Amino acid sequence: MSAVRLDRITHAQDRIAARVRRTPLVLSLSLSALCRAPVHLKLESRQPTGSFKLRGATNAVLSLSNEARKRGLVTASTGNHGRALAHAAKAEGVRAVVCMSALVPGNKVEAVRALGAEVRIVGRSQDDAQDEVEKLVREEGLTAIPPFDHADVIAGQGTMGLEIADALADTELVLVPLSGGGLAAGIAAAIKGRLPQARVIGISMERGAAMHKSLRAGKPVLVEELETLADSLGGGIGLTNQYTFTMCRDLLDDIVLVSEDEIAEGIRHAFVAEGETVEGAGSVGIAALLAGKIDVRGPTVVVVSGRNIDGALHQRIVDASPKAAISAGGLGR
Ligand SMILES: *Cc1c(COP(=O)(O)O)cnc(C)c1O
Repeated sequence: MSAVRLDRITHAQDRIAARVRRTPLVLSLSLSALCRAPVHLKLESRQPTGSFKLRGATNAVLSLSNEARKRGLVTASTGNHGRALAHAAKAEGVRAVVCMSALVPGNKVEAVRALGAEVRIVGRSQDDAQDEVEKLVREEGLTAIPPFDHADVIAGQGTMGLEIADALADTELVLVPLSGGGLAAGIAAAIKGRLPQARVIGISMERGAAMHKSLRAGKPVLVEELETLADSLGGGIGLTNQYTFTMCRDLLDDIVLVSEDEIAEGIRHAFVAEGETVEGAGSVGIAALLAGKIDVRGPTVVVVSGRNIDGALHQRIVDASPKAAISAGGLGR
């Protein structure tokens, strides 16, 4: 097992600078009042393709050898990583194939096609789609770019940590959504390298927190995948995990879990109080603060990781209980 170091992240920052947005870091008045300390939101929801995944995908595409570029890329992700990889590959004129099962909804298939990727529909499960990825690697020499456990992907996600350290040198705490751990590993490596005094806490949903369970078990373990509002945080960390398990174990100060109600509250607060459309996975840091689950001692940065949520679902959540958002400081602007 290995770790991605700070110099690899600074190289990634130079490499992707022209292709990825330096996203805004904005002070949240409502959360600062609630926590009695400055709380800033790092709005990765403002990236093209709607999530931070563009950082790692772009770094991975730009790091390919000429030979690998000619042959193309493949992934099984239909979510934010698939989108980001399709977009990054198209920008470089590289072929990208996204394998998905016949159960993936038509609008997701179209979204990936619209970004310029080739879609292969195979089988009826994510495992079938993954088998097809491995087949294309073997038979056509395509390069698989996994969503988190890959050094260039982790280094790309880590560039956000450098931006945070540059913008707010007195950061005391960073809250990072946590699933496979590419984002948390990259940010923690950058933050601990630049601001050794700062704490980095990963936030996962209670329903299927794979990294949390694995760290408790002392090794990567399987978790049952359950339906959750934080759908971009679903899935395991891989039983043959190379990077993110050790990096999260060694670099994170804590992991905090949030319930489905708390996630809904986070989505609602982001919209009502901050004017931001945020998906479930992107709102878990806000959710943890609203729920009083974080010991805030000084300047805090909350990573708002993405905005890709179904419009009707978002509407239902925002409409559900406006009172809750108001009592959390929503109208106090
Ligand atoms: C992928 C994703 C995450 C989690 O990233 P990991 O590197 O898998 O931990 C969080 N939020 C959003 C919006 C994502 O797409």
